[in-house]
Amino acid sequence: MGLRDRGLEIKTPAQIADMRRAGLVVGQTLELLRSSVRGGISTGELDAIAEDNIRSSGATPSFKGYHGFPGSICASVNDEVVHGIPGDRVLADGDVISIDCGAIVDGWHGDAAITVAVGDVPAEVTELMRATEEAMWRGIATARLGGRVTDISHAVETHVRSQGDYGILEDYVGHGIGSQMHLPPNVPNFGRPGRGPKLVEGLALAVEPMVTLGSKDTVVLDDDWTVITSDGSWAAHFEHTFTLTPRGAWVLTALDGGASALAALGVPYGGS
Ligand code: MG
Ligand code: MG
Repeated sequence: MGLRDRGLEIKTPAQIADMRRAGLVVGQTLELLRSSVRGGISTGELDAIAEDNIRSSGATPSFKGYHGFPGSICASVNDEVVHGIPGDRVLADGDVISIDCGAIVDGWHGDAAITVAVGDVPAEVTELMRATEEAMWRGIATARLGGRVTDISHAVETHVRSQGDYGILEDYVGHGIGSQMHLPPNVPNFGRPGRGPKLVEGLALAVEPMVTLGSKDTVVLDDDWTVITSDGSWAAHFEHTFTLTPRGAWVLTALDGGASALAALGVPYGGS
């Protein structure tokens, strides 16, 4: 367990290294799922692939049993934004699926999400996915030691707004992460910069914009989990877990630690 500073869990470098091991399992699992997505596969089959890969990597799926959640991934299709329950639903060409995945290694968590097109999707959906993923990276790239949590929020929102007339979910936000999947602070995907806790070494955050082609408002289905858009518009969700070192940002759930995406944004890579 890390030391806690005003409710924030501050990890040691050794604990961050353990989080990197969890993050790599998550990143590898998501890449396996990305390559498995196709018309005709069910979300339950994707869940089984994920659970097998997580467990064979010596990790534990953090979603499974979390407040009773039955899957190892969240599988959210089309107008489902987050928290979709994997099951019998069969993907068809033209669908879009958001896959959220978490794993635990030696008590330390990683949490990440991708949205994947099934075959060909409308150009506006491809643009939504691109804008959402870019916004996540802009948020991470903006984070600096000594800055504030909402610097990230502001960068995410600013990029999304610059890309189109999209809805940004406000009811669901990013979060601190470490010895638990969800820790303080909240990391909203909107708002003014310069607020919230200071960004310090040893803090780990999950940045996860959830963006729609229409409304920011959502409804939870009768399964008590699946979050859909209130207007039926389609959505995208990208997430990474990252930390800051004195050298720069280290994206713990990215296979390359975020090095290539950060370099493209002119930001130093902080990983080891
Ligand atoms: Mg997640
Ligand atoms: Mg998360």
